[in-house]
Amino acid sequence: MRRGGEFQSTGKTDRFLNPDILSETRCSVWRLTVSQPRRNFTYVKVIKISIDEKTGKFTDSFGNIAVLAPKNINRTTFPIFTMKKKVQSPSSIKTYKQCPRKYYYAYIMGLEQPHNIHTLRGNIAHSVLEHFFDIDTSFMTMDDYGPHLKLIMQQLLLKEWQQNKPKLDKLELTQDKQMHYFEETLMMLFNWLELFCRKLENKAGNFQERFKQLTPMRELMFVSENYHAKGIIDAIEQNGDGTVRLMDYKTSASENLNEHLLQLGIYSLLYLDKHGVMPKQVGVYFLKGKEACIEVDEELIEMAKKEIAHIHSVTQTQDINHYPKSPSPLCKYSTGQCPFYDVCRPYEKS
Ligand code: SF4
Repeated sequence: MRRGGEFQSTGKTDRFLNPDILSETRCSVWRLTVSQPRRNFTYVKVIKISIDEKTGKFTDSFGNIAVLAPKNINRTTFPIFTMKKKVQSPSSIKTYKQCPRKYYYAYIMGLEQPHNIHTLRGNIAHSVLEHFFDIDTSFMTMDDYGPHLKLIMQQLLLKEWQQNKPKLDKLELTQDKQMHYFEETLMMLFNWLELFCRKLENKAGNFQERFKQLTPMRELMFVSENYHAKGIIDAIEQNGDGTVRLMDYKTSASENLNEHLLQLGIYSLLYLDKHGVMPKQVGVYFLKGKEACIEVDEELIEMAKKEIAHIHSVTQTQDINHYPKSPSPLCKYSTGQCPFYDVCRPYEKS
């Protein structure tokens, strides 16, 4: 693949002046933004340049043949770069699958996605569970740990809730609603704690030894250069036999593990890529219900590879026309709307 170079088009594009490179791409379609001063404003147009690997000839988006310019043309006048592959994550892939236009707004344009109460309290619950394993347990015994852990969990939630108060206030919920979500989150954390306490009871040793055995590695960011993918794994647990289980926390009402297979597959792939060994299991703590997990196998890993390869192949361009709107009930619903609803106007003809 050629990198860099100059070109001039034999067609319409040769009228453009002062091209600016907006992006780079590693695929055979190169993209160039050209701007043309017109009276008192700048005209900007994105054109796509395809390269024929055998002949080295370019074709622009109008179907005109573009040719490499003579070397004496100033490189700064007609530079072409190659774009770095984006690093994809389970949430970026999920966003694309839900709606390519939403992906465009979030990951190409980088528009801000304001919190709603569900995303915000999800973050709060994650922080509480992350910090839960850092608590001082030195004064607890197997006879009295239950009430202590419950109280600490409550204190951790209060602290996180207060720290997020400015963000919560921005949501303009009534006091009653805020209280409702606080209490619901506390119930979820108590639910998880009950499960944790049952596991403690089944371990051997004093309280501190058992607590340590159940302490996972938390919130670890995995980045794969091989797959250009990343993900933050909430909890990496050591099984008794030396194998590993990757777990994610979910505050959603649904307890359908199948809805999360892609995310879990990507975590498994990222772990395999880093450590050279597959995790044994991967799963979810549904904070409103139970935990669920599956055995990791080649099929799950291959599915993750395929989905990552696919998202890379369809997101090489910054042309909005390649990211169609996919209107669905998720655009607007009784308690909220897609963060980009106003800019997208999904039901208007463009
Ligand atoms: S409003 Fe609907 S169609 Fe538009 S970006 Fe959001 S999900 Fe997609």
